[in-house]
Amino acid sequence: MHTYDPNLTDLVFAYMRDRLQLDPVPLDHPGDKDKLDRALAGLIGQEGNDPAEVLRLYAEQLAPTVISCDSPRFLSFIPAAPTKAALLFDMVVSCASIQGISWLEASGAIAAENQVLRLIADLAGLPAQAGGCFVSGGSAGNLSALVVARDTARRKRGLGDFDRVRIAVSDQAHSSIGNTLRIIGVEPLVVATADHRLTGPALREALLADPDPANVIGVVATAGTTNAGIVDDLAGVAEVASEYGLWFHVDGAYGGAGLFAPSVRHKYAGIEHADSFVVDPHKWLFAPFDCAALVYRDPHLAKAVHTQDASYLDVLHTGDKYEWNPTDYAYHLTRRARGLPLWFSLAVHGVKAYTDAVETALTLARDTAEVIRATPHLELIRDPELSAVVFRRTGWTADDYTAWSDRLLAGQVGFVTPTGWEGETVARFAFLHPHTTMDMVHEILDTMK
Ligand SMILES: *Cc1c(COP(=O)(O)O)cnc(C)c1O
Repeated sequence: MHTYDPNLTDLVFAYMRDRLQLDPVPLDHPGDKDKLDRALAGLIGQEGNDPAEVLRLYAEQLAPTVISCDSPRFLSFIPAAPTKAALLFDMVVSCASIQGISWLEASGAIAAENQVLRLIADLAGLPAQAGGCFVSGGSAGNLSALVVARDTARRKRGLGDFDRVRIAVSDQAHSSIGNTLRIIGVEPLVVATADHRLTGPALREALLADPDPANVIGVVATAGTTNAGIVDDLAGVAEVASEYGLWFHVDGAYGGAGLFAPSVRHKYAGIEHADSFVVDPHKWLFAPFDCAALVYRDPHLAKAVHTQDASYLDVLHTGDKYEWNPTDYAYHLTRRARGLPLWFSLAVHGVKAYTDAVETALTLARDTAEVIRATPHLELIRDPELSAVVFRRTGWTADDYTAWSDRLLAGQVGFVTPTGWEGETVARFAFLHPHTTMDMVHEILDTMK
């Protein structure tokens, strides 16, 4: 099974060619558990199967039960729209078994990944020493960054490993932030928001009202909430963070891509003060899963926290001044060089193509908001800041939204799931795919009459 097999290779490459050419990619439908179990029954035993049969089973039974998040009609959650160049290079990363653990083993891959991290750091206005690594997603990035925030503060303040520390978060922070704090044993100081946006004054007020603000060691701001695309008052939060000596983490998993878009760049003012910053290229920077960029202002602080100490790893730390071990900047050890597909695609297409693609989704959101505003039975809930549009169909109940969403998927018109807004069920579009058209939007909105 380690010998090159031209037939197996042709089979898989032919499948990949077909998948890459699908236009449009069908949305597809959720699967039926019994049917899937029947299709898979007995497949893996002591002896293998004909690869053509296994691939057929995959293509006919399994693939159609995976909703295509790269369809331009996928407007739920956060969609995906990886470039062809990035998808293809992901195969190179796989076929060449490229890992990106240490400089000793993978310097070329790491140099290329770091070139992309540098571009992102430059767009954010972070200083020359900034750096980090690619991790599997925003959740892993937030966790890795907040561990550094916690341990750095404990060390600077002369606290023990189990002394109580807290991190300020807004009531709008992503669920992964709450998870992270539970995992790392840090309590949140939850800051209430007016209009869903964390501001410097609200953070200051919460600290002033708190009986024990001294144990608050960090703050998380969101650069693009997942539900409505709201960018926190990064400059105001940065100012208070500096005043109180707080670690300033910016979660831009979804919205960080807006740094590429001149029409919204001003909303990110203050991000240049971040101690750590996360953006998911597998969301709005058109990379395949799974890929998040994690950048620290002072990477040596992360290295002091995340470097794994094991005698068999000592050789990785050679003392070479150019050495950069991505494994030292997050809680992982072994890692795929998952930044390379983005690197390849950026190098092939140039940054301007990314700027244009991000702006396309922003324009779609603005144009959709206009249509909603002009439609009597629809109500725009707030002006879109980024590419998420939240709106209601007057008179509809939660069940109406669910039934509508099911109908849209059944008819393959769109995958548009409802969301919650201030306790109410409402409709939401998350734009991202540059091939989503206003015709598709009209087609979907017309089903809400
Ligand atoms: C998506 C998202 C996350 C989580 O990222 P994953 O890549 O899904 O782990 C965190 N924060 C925000 C704001 C997000 O939109």
